[in-house]
Amino acid sequence: MPVQIPFDTSYARLPERFFVRMAPQPVSAPRLVKLNLPLCADLGLDPAALASPEGVEILAGNRVAEGAAFIAEAYAGHQFGHFNPQLGDGRAILLGEVVGRDGQRRDLQLKGSGRTPFSRGGDGRAAIGPVLREYIISEAMFALGIPTTRSLAAVLTGDQVFRETALPGAVLTRVAASHIRVGTFQFFAARSDADAIRLLADHVIARHYPEAAAAEAPYRALLKGVIARQARLVAQWMLVGFIHGVMNTDNTTVSGETIDYGPCAFMDHYDPSTVFSSIDHAGRYAYGNQPRILQWNLARLAEALLPLLADDEQKAVELAQESLTGFVTQFQAAWLDGMRRKLGLATAREEDAALIAALLGAMQEAGADFTQTFRLLCEAAADPAADADLAALFATTGGYAPWAAQWRARLASEDLAPTARAAAMRAVNPAFIPRNHMVEAALAAATEREDFGPFDELLSVLARPFEDQPHHARYAAPPEPEQRVLQTFCGT
Ligand code: AMP
Ligand code: MG
Ligand code: MG
Repeated sequence: MPVQIPFDTSYARLPERFFVRMAPQPVSAPRLVKLNLPLCADLGLDPAALASPEGVEILAGNRVAEGAAFIAEAYAGHQFGHFNPQLGDGRAILLGEVVGRDGQRRDLQLKGSGRTPFSRGGDGRAAIGPVLREYIISEAMFALGIPTTRSLAAVLTGDQVFRETALPGAVLTRVAASHIRVGTFQFFAARSDADAIRLLADHVIARHYPEAAAAEAPYRALLKGVIARQARLVAQWMLVGFIHGVMNTDNTTVSGETIDYGPCAFMDHYDPSTVFSSIDHAGRYAYGNQPRILQWNLARLAEALLPLLADDEQKAVELAQESLTGFVTQFQAAWLDGMRRKLGLATAREEDAALIAALLGAMQEAGADFTQTFRLLCEAAADPAADADLAALFATTGGYAPWAAQWRARLASEDLAPTARAAAMRAVNPAFIPRNHMVEAALAAATEREDFGPFDELLSVLARPFEDQPHHARYAAPPEPEQRVLQTFCGT
């Protein structure tokens, strides 16, 4: 079956110093594990053709799709605060860009496709576990309505990759609005390549911020646009308890999509100091630090853009600072607005911030599960009988009842039918998140037994996170103490 992918790769038309042209490295015995049918439809790709032997060869990097660009992108980045002037796609190759049925241009990239000139000490490969982990979590984020890269396909390579042990190798086909990062701008800033920074900025404006082109100061509008989208993004992370885990500047997109699902995880019991990543010893990327870190990353973007902001350096610094201050305001507004919705508040009042803080404080003290607390509040909004279940979550402290009294008084000040309020709350408080212990169980079955049943089932549950799925209640439950996952590991 002929595989036709209508590539139109604008990034490949940028100067050669933006990337390295090279093909993926072939693998032994490609086998399709998963193909994302709804995403195929969005992209206008034929799933039957992609699932055919020829299609799978393309998704494994063994066959050249007609018109593919095959490039590894160059970028730099601050990793845990330390600048590395050269990172780049060390195990990924861009096949090309496709304009989907919705008119959106997206990258198709193979991840785990072999060594590139940017690989440094790495083998350029990926193991099946981390590939399926990225698949699950990115698709869960999409279903939660959070901007994210997506997963089009996962294939086993038939080769082993060597980590602590030998593991089955795999390749992920990642789909993104683009793979351009804060670190892409830093790559050229570190080389004082002002022409490249301008070309990249023009490319990003055309691709992601077309409205900035018409602005009085397009590059300033670009910076403000990235800040606005990232402020909203991190607010959305915080509202579902998502911890990215490696918020390096090379893992911060300029499109405003979440990227690089390595040691990320969703928090179970609420605690702002929660860290899962095994390499985040200092807790730099802890749940509660994420907004601050994102602002720091955006400051690195602003630095790289300084020459474009104004001719006078002092003036450029002032403009950058003003934009970065806007981040805090925008994040707080988005977060507060989201929290009000989570609590079923239809109006905004000054004292809401204190009500929210009181709930979070009580949750932390009691070790209450983040997702479950908010989902049960949906029930409690419609029927105070559900208070008993909530009180049980706060059993160690008894912190629910006094807070609930304040909350109910606040709800009573609004003229909204309880059932309508509960329905609105259910649409923003998910029942299902990719809980670590469920994710780990699905990955273990796939890695140890080539059993992809748990992976498929978990994916299908997470595709409808806001619907009650009573027969899948076990996916909604927090881990038992012995099921708790304490650490996650880098995307290796
Ligand atoms: P990350 O921590 O996932 O953002 O990766 C940081 C850098 O390491 C990027 O340049 C990756 O392309 C590169 N990298 C990660 N894993 C590998 C690997 N197995 N082989 C080659 N490069 C890798
Ligand atoms: Mg990365
Ligand atoms: Mg990674």
